[in-house]
Amino acid sequence: MTFAVKCSLCEFFMMSITIALSKGRIFDDTAPLLKAAGIVPLDDPETSRKLILATNRDDVRLIIVRASDVPTYVQYGAADMGIAGKDVLLEHGGAGLYQPLDLNIARCRMMVAVRSDFDYESAVRRGARVRVATKYLQTAREHFAEKGMHVDLIKLYGSMELAPLVGLADAIVDLVSSGNTLKANNLKAVEEIMPISSRLIINQAALKLKRQAIQPMLEAFSAAITPLTPLSPYPLGAAT
Ligand code: ATP
Ligand code: MG
Repeated sequence: MTFAVKCSLCEFFMMSITIALSKGRIFDDTAPLLKAAGIVPLDDPETSRKLILATNRDDVRLIIVRASDVPTYVQYGAADMGIAGKDVLLEHGGAGLYQPLDLNIARCRMMVAVRSDFDYESAVRRGARVRVATKYLQTAREHFAEKGMHVDLIKLYGSMELAPLVGLADAIVDLVSSGNTLKANNLKAVEEIMPISSRLIINQAALKLKRQAIQPMLEAFSAAITPLTPLSPYPLGAAT
């Protein structure tokens, strides 16, 4: 025998959605998508010190976390969904996550860069052991393994551009958009590893339990995506 217990608190839980976002670039590009889904935060995440933001909808709240923490909050169900860069998702591994939509926002490229006077091609040809500094260990490991290159990876948490300038590494693996930061630091891009953009991610259990609430959002996000215009080729090895 089964009981149909009407519990308004349970119903609210089943229908309420927590979305994990990071400040900065991803939030800027996400705000129009949220708006298209009828979601407007009541505070500006850039200026508010609150980490949990209410929205115009009683059933939707935003949590503001570090970009690289977004998949973790969603994986463990502390957030039902989130928006994270492919760079971050590759490092996380994607366990427990659905990745139904490429939102085509925060687009850039994962690249290998070296000092402008470093002969990367020759180092590759000679089979030299190259020291690579990066925040993206998994991606870098896979890339160089595919090329059959022996590399020593050095984990950094930011400002990778500095590493080749002070002799910490020969090369870096980092995200590049305009290339202005590389230029300003006398570096050149030598390989494009992959294009990067941000994805909508959903907790696998939440998608099943809260489908009624999540599905319409998914459709609204999907309809609001700007069609992809391919990135033009990045000028590799361009002298700075
Ligand atoms: P933190 O600054 O807290 O250490 P972070 O550096 O990962 O974290 P951001 O620099 O805001 O945070 O990057 C967030 C996401 O934006 C990245 O994971 C990536 O997907 C995307 N991104 C990073 N750099 C660029 C760029 N130059 N152009 C477009 N998108 C980018
Ligand atoms: Mg940053």
